[in-house]
Amino acid sequence: MFIIWDMAGKEGRTIQPQPIEFTNAPYKCSVCQKQVFEFLPLAQYYIENLRNHGFPYKPEEGETINFEQYLCPHCGASDRDRLYACYLKEKLPHDDLVLLLDIAPSLPLSNFINTYKNITRHTADMLVEGVDFAVDIMNMPEINSDTYDILICSHVLEHVKDDKKALSELYRVLKPGGWGIIMVPIILTLDQIDEDPQVTDESERWRRFGQFDHVRLQQQIRFC
Ligand SMILES: [Zn+2]
Repeated sequence: MFIIWDMAGKEGRTIQPQPIEFTNAPYKCSVCQKQVFEFLPLAQYYIENLRNHGFPYKPEEGETINFEQYLCPHCGASDRDRLYACYLKEKLPHDDLVLLLDIAPSLPLSNFINTYKNITRHTADMLVEGVDFAVDIMNMPEINSDTYDILICSHVLEHVKDDKKALSELYRVLKPGGWGIIMVPIILTLDQIDEDPQVTDESERWRRFGQFDHVRLQQQIRFC
């Protein structure tokens, strides 16, 4: 077993090394481009904690999470990383020089984005060392306004006390006309946001928000 990045050990996001790529495998990882017989399921760490703490929603009620086909066995990309790679392949420029801000970066997706030599990528995170900006996204005075052409902020806002403040900061640092990927856990059957940053008990957070360090669950919003 090896660990993809620091939090992976704690959260059980470890994968078996599979150096052999079978070119006749039926699937392909959109992040590392390798052929895959089957993706790996979500770590038991999550499944057991959700069950033990009484999280009331079924796997199929969550959006953009595939419990059975979660991780790429080669690069460790999650299902959402693979989704973003499909989208980014369509959206990222191949020639124009652009500046991209990657908040709480995923290592597999970082490797994918770094193949674009026209993209300068800056990283930000409040908890992980080695990033360009060690910041709380609710307040990022280190980053000038109207700076970035593109930003990625995946599964960060559900950890943040005031997500509206964070969204305001993300908007501020994005150039006019810029774009980004901002994703959060969504329960499709919720009819309103369930949030309470005052809840600090980890067991209650697992039960109510689906993870020990989450403070909200989002519902699906339909735009007509
Ligand atoms: Zn992969």
